[in-house]
Amino acid sequence: MPPPSPATKEAPPRVVNQLTDLQQAVAQARQAGRKLGLVPTMGALHEGHLSLVRRAAAECEATLVTIFVNPTQFGPQEDFSQYPRTLEADLQALSEVGAGLVYNPSRESLYPAGFSTYVDPPHVALRWEGEHRPQHFRGVTTIVLKLFLLAQADVAFFGQKDYQQACVIARMVEDLNVPIRVCVCPTVREPDGLALSSRNRYLNPEQRCRAQGLWNSLRAACQCVERGERDAAAILGQMREVLFENGISRIDYVALVDPQTLEPVARIDQPTQALVAAWVDQTRLIDNLRLEPRNPTGRKL
Ligand code: AMP
Repeated sequence: MPPPSPATKEAPPRVVNQLTDLQQAVAQARQAGRKLGLVPTMGALHEGHLSLVRRAAAECEATLVTIFVNPTQFGPQEDFSQYPRTLEADLQALSEVGAGLVYNPSRESLYPAGFSTYVDPPHVALRWEGEHRPQHFRGVTTIVLKLFLLAQADVAFFGQKDYQQACVIARMVEDLNVPIRVCVCPTVREPDGLALSSRNRYLNPEQRCRAQGLWNSLRAACQCVERGERDAAAILGQMREVLFENGISRIDYVALVDPQTLEPVARIDQPTQALVAAWVDQTRLIDNLRLEPRNPTGRKL
């Protein structure tokens, strides 16, 4: 088997489905001393995913993209069966951004009969998504550690879009001494601010319009801080109001948290992460934004 090709534009990636083929390709890349970048995804790729692949291709000599809709991170009432699966279009998109190798395994190969070992996620997984999606992060840490072990990559690329997920994975890597560097890349947005997400495909035009409310609420939080508001409760009230004004009434949470621990803060005296999770009818969306308070001289605190 040839090793994963280096980042060449317009070259179709090599696709492997079998564990043994992946392991062989990875071994060859390692033997050749290539720096390997890993981009785990669930497919239905958009510019957000592709930005991670471009970053990997720029930083690494070989790029492995995984496409796997991981069943263990979905709750029983969630959208696992509905989740968009668009492999052909994904491969086409990947051929334009320098992904040398794509791993697209079957469910059975990663979760064979009798599978029963899971990674217990760190404390940073407990709140927010952890509260609203019980078992979600257990599924995430388990599949991501499996992919880390299989890929033996030097760097793994994740999106800031899933801020808590990035924190959970970074902590897992530290706690379990996983020999990989985690690189968290900026959120890619639509021109009106909506964060790109595979789930945006669920939205009809009217819902798509309301979905902008998430970004508007984050921007409102940012504007509050710029005006000098430091009281978290006041800012959270403003965020909720903006969501309501945009026709979003089912809010899982709005939160202002310490960027490392994800514990709520009472005052915005330090850089703070604003988090939002809300429903546009049947579609659950999340987003986040860093708030950077400035002192009276205009310097960031
Ligand atoms: P998913 O396919 O939703 O599991 O996402 C795969 C990776 O893409 C995760 O690291 C996400 O955080 C990242 N990602 C998803 N949406 C975006 C976005 N709009 N901008 C940047 N990264 C993203």
